[in-house]
Amino acid sequence: MALFCTRVPRRSLSAELTGGPAGRVGGNMEKTKSVGQMIFAAIQCTWGIPQTFLGFVLFLRYIRAPHEWYRGVVRTRWDLEGGISLGLFIFTPDGEDEWCCKMAAHEYGHTRQSLLLGPLYLAAIGLPSLLWERLEWCRRLRREKNIPYSWFYTERWADRLSSSIYI
Ligand SMILES: [Zn+2]
Repeated sequence: MALFCTRVPRRSLSAELTGGPAGRVGGNMEKTKSVGQMIFAAIQCTWGIPQTFLGFVLFLRYIRAPHEWYRGVVRTRWDLEGGISLGLFIFTPDGEDEWCCKMAAHEYGHTRQSLLLGPLYLAAIGLPSLLWERLEWCRRLRREKNIPYSWFYTERWADRLSSSIYI
């Protein structure tokens, strides 16, 4: 599993939105990246609206949890162990260790699947991924056959996308 694990400076969402000191980085590279992230967000809010809407509902459910921008998506650090990706929103455990970092990168890979698949994302990725993770039959299969979680197409593809182009 070749996961891209980067330490993105933790900047508050409010500072990013208001252009406060913590959100200012400067430079043409950053401006280009910002335009790319705006386009990314616009596509997630139109083409990817079904999952982005669900993500927004979940975001409101965990509104008191810490939030931050992460590579152009809203990352919520909740108190659960697992992660989920719904369009413009990703949810990961609240930690700074390598596991949390890898999970954020992986969930970001799913957001790129949302970008590519749009309205097909929930049926093609969301549901199969959820079943692969939750179904007892799938858990037993992984355990007994020693199959890694990342073997399943939804996960392997997300890992690959997470390590490609950085927005
Ligand atoms: Zn996944």
